Amino acid sequence: MKQLQIIIFLIFSLSVFGQSVTYNHTIDATDVETKKVMLLFENYLASNPEKKGKNPYWNKKEQEKHKNYDFLESEFQPSLYMGIPAQVLSIKFKNDSCKIKVKYSYVKKNGNPHVLAIVNYLAIKENGKFKLYNWLSYSKKKWNRKKVGIVDFYFPPCHKFNYEKAKKLNNFINEICKNFSVQPKPFEYYLANNYDEIQKLKGFDYYIGMGEQSMPSGKATDDKVYCGGLGEYYPHEVFHLQIDEHFKNKHFWVSEGIATLLGGSRGKSLHWHIKRTNLYLQKHPEIDLNNMLKLTNLDNQTSYHYVLGGLIAKKIMDKGGWSLLKDFMSTGTTDKDYYNAIEKYLAVKKSDINHYIRTQLKIESKP
Ligand SMILES: [Zn+2]
Repeated sequence: MKQLQIIIFLIFSLSVFGQSVTYNHTIDATDVETKKVMLLFENYLASNPEKKGKNPYWNKKEQEKHKNYDFLESEFQPSLYMGIPAQVLSIKFKNDSCKIKVKYSYVKKNGNPHVLAIVNYLAIKENGKFKLYNWLSYSKKKWNRKKVGIVDFYFPPCHKFNYEKAKKLNNFINEICKNFSVQPKPFEYYLANNYDEIQKLKGFDYYIGMGEQSMPSGKATDDKVYCGGLGEYYPHEVFHLQIDEHFKNKHFWVSEGIATLLGGSRGKSLHWHIKRTNLYLQKHPEIDLNNMLKLTNLDNQTSYHYVLGGLIAKKIMDKGGWSLLKDFMSTGTTDKDYYNAIEKYLAVKKSDINHYIRTQLKIESKP
C-alpha cells in the first residue's frame, strides 16, 4: 500500500513537468509511422496545451480558424491537460489519417482507478509531418447541416429539422444583441436528443458523467453551442455565446441569472424553478439567503445561481428594463460587487436579502 502511494506521488510529481504518457502494450513502437504519432502526441502534451498558445503539433487550419483550437481542452475544469496521466490505448491508421485513442485516468488513494475520460484525436500529415486534429472536424461531416440566419445547425441524420424553432432562435439572437448593443456573431450549433450523442461526436468514448439520467443540457464555447434535449431552440447557451464576452466585468451569478431569465435552465423556465424553490425554502427556514452566493445546488434540477440569479435579474428588468439589465452586466466580478449591485439597483441591503428573496419568491410563484 505504501509503495502504491509512492507511485502515485511520483506520477503527480512528474505531472508538474508535463503530463505523463504511457502506452497500451498492443501499440507497436517499432513501426516507424506509429512511432511518429507517439512522439507527436507526447510533444503536444509536453507543450502546455492548456495555455492555448500557437502550437507546432496542432494543424494550422484549425489554429487559424479557432481561438480555442483544441475543442477538448476546456471540457474539464481547469483543463483536460491538468496533469492527469494519459494512456494511449490505440493508434490506428486508415488511408492517410490516424485515430489516437487516449484514456485520462489516475489511481485514487484507496487504490481505485478513476477515469476522467477516454477521447479520440486525429493525426493527419501536413507537408509530410503528422499534426493533430479535432475529432469533431471530421465526425461532423456525417451529420446533417442546415444554415438558418446566422446559425449553422448540425444534427444527427435521424433528426427532423424544425425550421420554426431555428427561426425563433435567430429572432432571440437579434433581440438580445439589439438590447445589449452587440453585433450578432455567426456560430455552429450542435443538437441531439441526448447530450451524450454530442459528446460522442466530439470524440468522447467515455467521460465522467456519461450515461447518467439525461435532462436537457448544453454548453457554450466562444464559437460553438452544443445542446442535448431541446432541439433547435436552446436560448440559455446562445445568450452566453453572444453576450458574455462583451461584458467581462460581471459576476458569475449575473450572467447565469440573465441567461435563465431569458432562456430558462435545464429545459425549464425561470418561473418553473421559482415555484419549486419557493416550496423548498418554505420547508427550510434555516437556509440563510443573506449569504446566498455560498449556495450551489438545491437538487439535481435547480441550482441557486440560476433560480435566485434569475429572480434578481427579473426584478432589475422589471424596474429598469433592458437598459438597467445591461448596466447590471458590468457591476464587478466579486461577491461584494454583486451584493452592492443589488443594493444599488433594488435598494436591498445584504442583511435584508433573506427576507427579500423569500417574499419575492412567494409573489413570483403565482401563476
Ligand atoms: Zn449558463
